[in-house]
Amino acid sequence: MKLTKQRFNKPSVFADGFFCLKGLILQQLFNSYRLKKLAEAYSPENFRKRGHDLVDQLADHFENTIQEKNTKVIHWSQPKDEHVFWKDYLENGNQENLFSTIIDHSIHVHNPKYIGHQVTPTLPITALTAMLSASLNNGMAVYEMGVAASAIERIVTDYICKKAGYTIASNGILTSGGTLANLTALLTARKAKATTNVWNQGSVNALGIMVSEEAHYCVDRAARIMGLGDVGIIKIPSTSNFNMDISLLNEEYEKAKSSGIEIFAIIGSAPSTSTGIYDDLEAIAEFSAKKNIWFHVDGAHGGAAIFSKTYKHTVKGIEKADSIVIDGHKMMMMPALTTALLFKDGNTSHATFSQKADYLLEESKEEDWYNIAKRTFECTKTMASIHWYTILKTYGEEIFDEYVTTLYNLGHQFAEMVVANPNFEIAVEPASNIVCFRYINDALSEKETNSLNEKIRQSLLEKGEFYIVQTKLRGIHYLRVTIMNPFTTKIHLQQLLKQILAEVN
Ligand SMILES: *Cc1c(COP(=O)(O)O)cnc(C)c1O
Repeated sequence: MKLTKQRFNKPSVFADGFFCLKGLILQQLFNSYRLKKLAEAYSPENFRKRGHDLVDQLADHFENTIQEKNTKVIHWSQPKDEHVFWKDYLENGNQENLFSTIIDHSIHVHNPKYIGHQVTPTLPITALTAMLSASLNNGMAVYEMGVAASAIERIVTDYICKKAGYTIASNGILTSGGTLANLTALLTARKAKATTNVWNQGSVNALGIMVSEEAHYCVDRAARIMGLGDVGIIKIPSTSNFNMDISLLNEEYEKAKSSGIEIFAIIGSAPSTSTGIYDDLEAIAEFSAKKNIWFHVDGAHGGAAIFSKTYKHTVKGIEKADSIVIDGHKMMMMPALTTALLFKDGNTSHATFSQKADYLLEESKEEDWYNIAKRTFECTKTMASIHWYTILKTYGEEIFDEYVTTLYNLGHQFAEMVVANPNFEIAVEPASNIVCFRYINDALSEKETNSLNEKIRQSLLEKGEFYIVQTKLRGIHYLRVTIMNPFTTKIHLQQLLKQILAEVN
């Protein structure tokens, strides 16, 4: 108290305003010329003011986009023009308008006519947990650097393990995205199944994985990072329904084996990204058990179906997988990036990055679960667990059921609409909220139809009222929607088809 009083009596910029020690620390910062910027930047009052303003702006943004008062999903601009705009803004733009300008120049995933990539309209409460994570900035690598978030991460991953049908021996981690989670799972798989310890000794044998030709490109990339090369990526052709052709598995396995490749893992997509079609997880589980190889499920998009009473059947057999990936930022309404990577036998996850070959035998599962970076690729990471925990605590798991079920239902309804219209066709009966379709016209050749559909999509993008994407399947150009927004209705989808027809005519 004495100190406070003495210091306060000295003349300073705060002489009228601050009575407390906190004020004195800021005063010291202000008094030192060198730290003027820091003092301004760390000012709680500045934060309070800008924070309140931003929360108001974002609340308006949610309201305006969800209720379509903002009619455009995207204000399309060419990359070079956008680059020039922001270069100029750094020099001449108005500081006051920075946040609102960023909002205006961004794609609005909360708009019901955003029906494009697999990015979710985040729950507003996760904007708050993201702010909490950024403010506290607990680095998570060791327990002390994320006391609450580490314990919460264990609770959340245990919870999802249970929902997936795993047992008490299972556990998981949260990591930064499906891409990194798939790589991590394959590293674990190699440690667990390969006959040589590549982690310590480097590659000795030619190793390989089996995966559908329809799998997400990140599986291929992970395999290449691991040094498997072309020969080590056994791409299994898909059926006419775009899922992995199970009847080819044995033949492909034996073929690889006879050319000296040791297969250590097989990956099932749940579902694959382009078509939204699920591989037959039960059949893959059976095959992997027979060959004693690792079974990994890439459920980045649709693993969340474990929460849907109606669509749980799509992931039948998922509990037999050795590892599972589920993105929080796709079908679980969380901000990018947060991904759950779950292991049927939690011990295997402790071995992923461990030097000791006999680690599994020596250490118990309880050992060190709280020092999470031992099991994650990342060292520092965000407190992602608080998104999952806050949603569960605030709304309960029913919200995931509502979300997944509503969107998958809409996927089916949209396909019905498309099929009912002679100007359109679907690529395949959908199994999720992803639907590939195209405009058709008997008068056009296949080549003309492809280029017309490409033009339709470009025109929609430039107009910005709807946002949809496109994909090529077996040489055919399809328009593609992923219905991510629970506020998208059948009416919006009808309007989309109408808009496409207007483009053509
Ligand atoms: C989106 C996706 C990925 C990649 O996940 P990110 O979180 O974007 O890194 C991997 N696999 C599938 C099946 C996906 O849909």
